Amino acid sequence: MTGGHDDGDMMAGQGTHGVDALGHLYRDLVGCRRCSGMQGPPVHGQAVISPVMMVGQAPGTREILQGIPFCWTAGKTLFRWFESIGIDEQTFRRRALMSAVCRCFPGKNPKGGDRVPDAVEVERCSGWWQTEVELARPRLIIPVGKLAIVQFMESKRLNDVVGAQWPYRSPSGLEADLIPLPHPSGASTWFKMEPGKTLLEQALSLIEVHPAWREIRTASAAAQASRAGRIGAA
Ligand code: SF4
Repeated sequence: MTGGHDDGDMMAGQGTHGVDALGHLYRDLVGCRRCSGMQGPPVHGQAVISPVMMVGQAPGTREILQGIPFCWTAGKTLFRWFESIGIDEQTFRRRALMSAVCRCFPGKNPKGGDRVPDAVEVERCSGWWQTEVELARPRLIIPVGKLAIVQFMESKRLNDVVGAQWPYRSPSGLEADLIPLPHPSGASTWFKMEPGKTLLEQALSLIEVHPAWREIRTASAAAQASRAGRIGAA
């Protein structure tokens, strides 16, 4: 997906400099072929400087084909969760920065599901999302799934980290809040059974009241009102 925005939709206070820098980053990213075991081309979201950044795990085959993150079944579940706390898919894609631990498809696991990228692949790809963090300087980071969560914090158990808000400090000193979510994959049963069900609800409630989330929600409502006003005046 190519980056892009229209001025009427830009976040309050968002300059074009950061958006341009993200655009340059994505032009480099789509040409990356460092991992022989990964299938590209690499996928990224829209170039948007946002107070909210989501970090997924790695794209699947559909995402690679369409060049759009979370465009298939896991995305449907994820966007249903976000819609339940006030932001629909289209708004989220336009107003939040969508990143991932790895940007290429890792291939299938012979035992079922997608292969989990290995430590070398994760390390090689980390520069892309770390640069996105530094350019966008989000105040809320939502890591989705275990592989994403462990890039930001020590604990590996969803039961221990989902349902709470955690502090994050990047190597450069940037501070943000972390609210982890489970991966919305249909293969996962964690969020369909207790305690996962309740912990997911708690996590979504925390995101809903976070000032960064409220900011993109408010900006979206203001942009819609402005568009409606323009149409009404036409
Ligand atoms: S997984 Fe990341 S580092 Fe590896 S080829 Fe794809 S974009 Fe490049």
